[in-house]
Amino acid sequence: MKKETYLGVNVSPLTYEEIIHDIQKRMNAQKQSTIIAVNPEKIMKAQRDEQLRKLINESTYQLPDGVGVLLASRLKGGAIRERVTGIDMMDHLLRLAHQHAYRVFFYGAKKEVLKRAIKNIQSRYPGLDIAGYQHGYTANEQALIERIQTTRPHILFVALGSPKQEHWIRKHKDRLPVYIFQGVGGSFDVYAG
Ligand code: UDP
Repeated sequence: MKKETYLGVNVSPLTYEEIIHDIQKRMNAQKQSTIIAVNPEKIMKAQRDEQLRKLINESTYQLPDGVGVLLASRLKGGAIRERVTGIDMMDHLLRLAHQHAYRVFFYGAKKEVLKRAIKNIQSRYPGLDIAGYQHGYTANEQALIERIQTTRPHILFVALGSPKQEHWIRKHKDRLPVYIFQGVGGSFDVYAG
């Protein structure tokens, strides 16, 4: 897959549509995909944190979130054409799920925030197949893992903040029957309004 590299950190030079298209091909091939948003702040953090750099680089898609990455690409004649934000990517995935009746699972944020976010998402995408949800302060992670294993969501959004959510995804993804994992940071708070 095409990548551009900034200070050793990979970024995908792809638009929303290209990622959605590619992700569906991967789903058809039974392959899991992981999505992480990359901005200059994360690139700087990754300079001091080798584990974070690996975590970013091992993701399937590194979204060029943040104008800084777009500018850097323009300056070096790269191929990044637009900013691809985590929250807009999440919205594209929700639309995809709505169109194809994919099951979606939401994990993270405070209990009340998560409830409001789901309510708003449901009114935006009526009939969306919600496999389940769990706020981000649970003590019983094993029960959550089992619930995800039972409900088999196509898409799992994890909102625990970065890089906590990406570490969580890496730790658990091999035993979860999920096609698409996205770490979405504060996006549930945004949907909650
Ligand atoms: N969060 C959580 N569990 C935790 C820590 C954080 O569910 O143990 C949630 C928090 O409630 C918020 C989100 O993770 O909804 C973090 O959002 P933030 O904007 O800080 O993340 P960033 O986008 O900066 O990574």
